[in-house]
Amino acid sequence: MRFSPEPTWPCPACSKGAMRIKDSRLSHTPAGDLAKRRRRCCSKCGFSVTTYEIPAETYRKAMAPAQAAEQITKIRKILEAAE
Ligand SMILES: [Zn+2]
Repeated sequence: MRFSPEPTWPCPACSKGAMRIKDSRLSHTPAGDLAKRRRRCCSKCGFSVTTYEIPAETYRKAMAPAQAAEQITKIRKILEAAE
């Protein structure tokens, strides 16, 4: 089985370069979940970002409170409009 090369994406700062991986190691997210931490750097302008690769289930759990808060805000707006 062959694995495809590490995916990259265009630089969000200059949109000319490609975000290349500078450093990669096993780490934890700010919330404490195990994650693959990568330092990515633009090949043209040097813009850099840190990304964390986590399992989808961990991501869903982390996003659940934010989504619940968003739902409450939507419902509140509907109720306020109905008053
Ligand atoms: Zn760039």
